[in-house]
Amino acid sequence: MGAEVKTTCPYCGVGCGVIAKVDETGTVTVKGDPEHPANFGRLCSKGSALAETIDLDGRLLHPEIKGRQASWDEALDLVASRFCEIIAQHGPESVAFYVSGQLLTEDYYVANKLMKGFIGAANIDTNSRLCMSSSVAGHRRAFGSDTVPGLYEDLELADLVILTGSNLAWCHPVIYQRLAAAKAARPGLKIVVIDPRRTMTCDIADLHLAIRPDGDVALFMGLLAHLAASSAIDQNYIGAYTEGFGAAFAAAAALTSDEVLDRTGLPAMQVREFFRLFETTEKVVTCYSQGVNQSASGTDKVNAIINCHLATGRIGRPGTGPFSLTGQPNAMGGREVGGLANMLAAHMAIESAGDRDRVQRFWNAPSIAAKPGLKAVDLFGAVEEGRVKALWIMATNPVVSLPDARRVEAAIAACPFVVVSDMVRETDTTQHADVLLPSLGWGEKDGTVTNSERRISRQRPFLTLPGEARADWWQMAEVGRRMGFTACDYTSPADIFAEHAALSAFENDGDRDFDIGAYADIQQPVYDALEPFQWPQPYGTEARETRFFSDGGFFHPDRKARFVAVEAPATDRTDAAYPFTLNTGRIRDQWHTMTRTGKSARLSSHIAEPFAEIHPRDAMELGVADAALVQIESSYGKAIIRALVTDRQARGSVFVPMHWSDQNSAEARIGAVIKPATDPVSGQPASKNVAVAVSRYRAA
Ligand code: SF4
Repeated sequence: MGAEVKTTCPYCGVGCGVIAKVDETGTVTVKGDPEHPANFGRLCSKGSALAETIDLDGRLLHPEIKGRQASWDEALDLVASRFCEIIAQHGPESVAFYVSGQLLTEDYYVANKLMKGFIGAANIDTNSRLCMSSSVAGHRRAFGSDTVPGLYEDLELADLVILTGSNLAWCHPVIYQRLAAAKAARPGLKIVVIDPRRTMTCDIADLHLAIRPDGDVALFMGLLAHLAASSAIDQNYIGAYTEGFGAAFAAAAALTSDEVLDRTGLPAMQVREFFRLFETTEKVVTCYSQGVNQSASGTDKVNAIINCHLATGRIGRPGTGPFSLTGQPNAMGGREVGGLANMLAAHMAIESAGDRDRVQRFWNAPSIAAKPGLKAVDLFGAVEEGRVKALWIMATNPVVSLPDARRVEAAIAACPFVVVSDMVRETDTTQHADVLLPSLGWGEKDGTVTNSERRISRQRPFLTLPGEARADWWQMAEVGRRMGFTACDYTSPADIFAEHAALSAFENDGDRDFDIGAYADIQQPVYDALEPFQWPQPYGTEARETRFFSDGGFFHPDRKARFVAVEAPATDRTDAAYPFTLNTGRIRDQWHTMTRTGKSARLSSHIAEPFAEIHPRDAMELGVADAALVQIESSYGKAIIRALVTDRQARGSVFVPMHWSDQNSAEARIGAVIKPATDPVSGQPASKNVAVAVSRYRAA
């Protein structure tokens, strides 16, 4: 029998440990790693099916230029020369990278360094913009840094767990399993689910608040006002460790009870019960995910939640705190290395001249991006307008996943030079590439990822590298070298990780949360044997208290947290032409645009085709029977999808999963319907509250 290799699941942000084994016949088996602190041996359906998704069918195995096979030298020379030409003619802002939470931290580090330090612009953004950028912005406003205070064990230690905008059962299944087990062992643990839909997560809920989309800000403002009125706030904590309570409270108190009920759409009795539970429970964890983040008021939602935890001092202690659950396997790792257009590496700020100078000196870079770059939606807008003339897309499929997807597709198709690095030959995006570069997949990649609780784990290779596929970091380092940048001369992921760790500690006077300086001198054997660990881990520490804010110190210059005075937005975006609200999300057994999970017959048997959940009375009024086709239309585009009539869905709304593309089923791409509206602070697209028309589909 072959040796067992410990690695990490490549799907969601839970970051479960996986043990993979290849036998003499080449058959791969996987099981959960009982020693990994994220999952303790558990896996969900997607993780359990990993071995069914790693065959070479459909793989991109060789570089291609305009559809013909090319050598690596020819392809890399072309990419480097076209980027150099375009930069020489139009400046560094005329090129962009669009990367992915699927990249390993080492890939992300090189992409960020090449763009921000050597090309000298900040036009590198990521599909993680669609995932958790509102949480990043909310953390930075409240804490002075993008610091996630929560640990998974907090859900098990809490007496009240609030899940808002999170279908944990389907989207973070192993955390759901841990929470369900904790509740089974300790029935006194109360769970509140705040979600417009009655999802599978509600199966373990004591209270389900079927809130209106975007009603969360009003609900948590109402909670803050209630806590203050009930003398349930912690004046000592507020006085010692925070600033800005007065303004946040004034904003919350100005919202009347009737306005809270109106914006949330909730019965007064349920709101009172929720407020009572929060007020009377000392150990409270509030988890939030895409239902909070993917909103035009996403950052305010995050801060409205954090305000309530700061007001009660319920943060920094076991079983307490606000907790953002990241969607992607390495959204967190991307944040650590500045893989967003508005961040520098190691949680340093691109707006800070001191931080820019520090990073530039550390990299010995000829330049450094002087201002934030284009965030995802604006980046593709700049491609459409011709301001971005060379685009390198890595490990993502924006033609399906971005809002206003058909316009994104047209913009990419018209872009003068498009490079796509991917492991899959035929995606909706690869067909528009001038140059295709074959990348490694799970089981082949070598590097690290960071999960939602800041735990860094290794992804280790155990498969033979297919065809000529190479790591993403290698592709970028080679292009950088051919553009004349020797600082990208790495020989291994361990080299990159060591540099990343050294930068995190470089001239850190304690003003940075992300510090893994203990690994700045890491050598290959130690990197190979690296056990999962949580940041921070500064130089000279073996193991350290990993709970942030336990001493009441935050990362603003005065070490105090900030309350944010938020505004409750209008929640109803419908009108006479578009009277329904479209909500989008994931299903249990598929991942993103299905390029990998779609290979497993077992996973596809859960739900085989796209569906539009609609309430029975709405279906009746529209004359739509269960399984009939409906047309969902906005002013941006339309999709034709089979109806799933269910009272889990609120009246006046439809839910459609985001996975399917036109490749799977004609006109199934729901991204084509979504308006490209974004949160004004974070730039995250609002994909869960879109005004649409719904009608019975009649073929022409
Ligand atoms: Fe993978 Fe997430 Fe499932 Fe864990 S919960 S096995 S990380 S998909």
